[in-house]
Amino acid sequence: MTDKYNRVYNFSAGPAVLPVEVLEEARDEMLNYKNSGMSVMEMSHRSKTYDEIIKTAQKDLRELMNIPDNYKVLFLQGGAHLQFSMVPINLLKNGVADYIVTGQWAKKAYQEAQKYGKINKVATSEDKNFSYIPDCSDLDISPEADYVYICENNTIYGTKFQTLPNTKGKILVSDMSSCFLSEPVDVTKYGLIFAGVQKNVGPAGVQIVIIREDLLRDDLPNWCPTMLNYKIHADNDSLYNTPPAYGIYICSLVFKWLKKQGGLEKMKEINEKKAKVLYDFLDSSKLFKGTVEKSSRSLMNVPFITGSDELDKKFIEEAKNEGFVQLKGHRTVGGMRASIYNAMPIEGVVKLVEFMKKFESENI
Ligand SMILES: *Cc1c(COP(=O)(O)O)cnc(C)c1O
Repeated sequence: MTDKYNRVYNFSAGPAVLPVEVLEEARDEMLNYKNSGMSVMEMSHRSKTYDEIIKTAQKDLRELMNIPDNYKVLFLQGGAHLQFSMVPINLLKNGVADYIVTGQWAKKAYQEAQKYGKINKVATSEDKNFSYIPDCSDLDISPEADYVYICENNTIYGTKFQTLPNTKGKILVSDMSSCFLSEPVDVTKYGLIFAGVQKNVGPAGVQIVIIREDLLRDDLPNWCPTMLNYKIHADNDSLYNTPPAYGIYICSLVFKWLKKQGGLEKMKEINEKKAKVLYDFLDSSKLFKGTVEKSSRSLMNVPFITGSDELDKKFIEEAKNEGFVQLKGHRTVGGMRASIYNAMPIEGVVKLVEFMKKFESENI
């Protein structure tokens, strides 16, 4: 076991590991938040104390990501899955959108959007089980497309866009769920960014949406449920109804923690160093190998295999006994996957590689 709380090294893809310091702070404030006499869980979302929490959360996120003033930050619910619907409902005007399908999540978004318009698949990597990011420098973008959609980091397959697609002037929409806050991004390149926080930021139940103001609309069709209208949430500062209040509070602690670490430039540096430990080993190992084209590798999710289902199983079992948990790969890829989000300390990865070396020497 790894620390004074007997916590394991948790390589889960999501819900995933959170910083110990954040959990400790939440623990210390759990029963009486800053002399309010109550827990944040028990507090009115209209109270002054809570207003301070959600405003500070937004301010810190804006600072971390350098979000320009003409973008709104929304704290919503419904998971990334609800965004698969909200994006087309709110952004389709001509009724046409172009999707780049690089994995299961992009595919689900693509399928869901079909309910609302003419949705084109302009690129895909399905031919090689999504093990790479296709060349998106000169796609056949529809002249009337309302937006181009990507899933920027493919959690299941371990690939990430290293350069953004050339959208030929169309609005770019990105599902950033599994790479959100892992490195700096230029928000101005996007019309809309969304992320479920349970991968890299907080507890399941909070969805962060960053949307350029001019994409908020007064002319949505009447059938659009009020709760699915971005503008309603933007006009009400994410307090149209009761927000996922406690989850937002935990996110706010993570934002503070990230600022203390040195911000997203620093996180990128740490994440690159961390991922390199694992990738370097995979590239030199006689037993383990990565499943992704090198030029498409994710810093957050690292899938790998031994080539034998039996050995994979044995490895996962023995790793678990040593305190390295949730290493089983997604059922569509098989093998193993180590998710190494912001809160996974580098020691966790170094120790995992040590264990892999030992396993290799015993099983080759
Ligand atoms: C996990 C994940 C989703 C699905 O999130 P839910 O909150 O379960 O809806 C979508 N996209 C990406 C990139 C993910 O990693």
